[in-house]
Amino acid sequence: MESDFKLFNKMAVIGVGLIGGSMAIRSKEIGLVDKVIGFGRSVENLETAMKLNIIDEYHRDFTHLKDADIVVIATPVSSIVHIVKQAERYCERGAIITDVGSVKEEIVKKIEQLNPKHIHFVGAHPIAGTEHSGASAAFGALFEGKRCVLTPTKKTDQPALTKVRLLWERLGAEVVLMEPKLHDTIFAAISHLPHIIAYSLVKCTNDMKDIDEDIMSYSAGVFLDFTRIASSDPEMWRDISLLNKGNLIEMIKRFEIALGEMKKAIGSSDGHRLYEEFHASQQARNKLIKSKS
Ligand code: NAP
Repeated sequence: MESDFKLFNKMAVIGVGLIGGSMAIRSKEIGLVDKVIGFGRSVENLETAMKLNIIDEYHRDFTHLKDADIVVIATPVSSIVHIVKQAERYCERGAIITDVGSVKEEIVKKIEQLNPKHIHFVGAHPIAGTEHSGASAAFGALFEGKRCVLTPTKKTDQPALTKVRLLWERLGAEVVLMEPKLHDTIFAAISHLPHIIAYSLVKCTNDMKDIDEDIMSYSAGVFLDFTRIASSDPEMWRDISLLNKGNLIEMIKRFEIALGEMKKAIGSSDGHRLYEEFHASQQARNKLIKSKS
């Protein structure tokens, strides 16, 4: 009997890591597709994906994309446009290509400039993840109750957009539509800057060679909580930082100003000012937590 959730016959996942692998797992679990085929960089990761039953088969060349009706590109953001360029010609007319990249404006613009004749492209970014990567980090419930931003433009094919929306809803996500430019501004603030700060904080602490103690060995709850995301994949975060450069530089400048204000208040022993700053941030965060629960 055919699943009520079925949307596609064959899903191709290019980059069977945390995100691509999790999409494949849940798609198979709920019968959203009949078959999932994987493509990737290293055979080791693809073999892991086979062992974990994440994909049904894997291939190294895109000729096997021939009868995939949905192609998910889940590789680092710097590779997505190039992969669409290479993959598109092997897809059947009408196939949908979608991505999951954490930066959208440049990717969507460049793919639309390719003016692909065969396929329909829909940009997507699931707001779900962990600091782990690769097929072994994937799990089917990753998108449950999370949001997924779709970034259609005037050029986006409406039936393809509807299908990608359904795909994400059936994977458990709440879909939000947003312009690619606004997406990148928001995520520079809410995701990309925090990663830069976490990496910088670990560097700053780890570089304190003037103290003859292994400072990092004293890190307990606070430091570990705050820097969890500095365990994220450096390749992924290098690419995101460079592709969202303008917005990220703007956010770093704003952060420098905020940090400078804290430094000034501490330096001048201005307890009142410091309290006001901490209190305002505490209230803002409490409000955020309330809206999430
Ligand atoms: P990941 O676990 O590292 O998976 C990426 C996979 O892509 C790896 O299996 C890698 O293969 C493969 N790959 C890398 N370059 C490739 C290439 N040129 N051609 C084919 N395969 C290639 O990363 P992820 O966390 O799933 O992230 C994938 C995408 O999702 C990124 O665009 C990221 O911005 C986006 N995203 C991530 C998160 C998050 O929190 N992690 C959240 C939302 C969106 P190997 O294993 O062989 O190197």
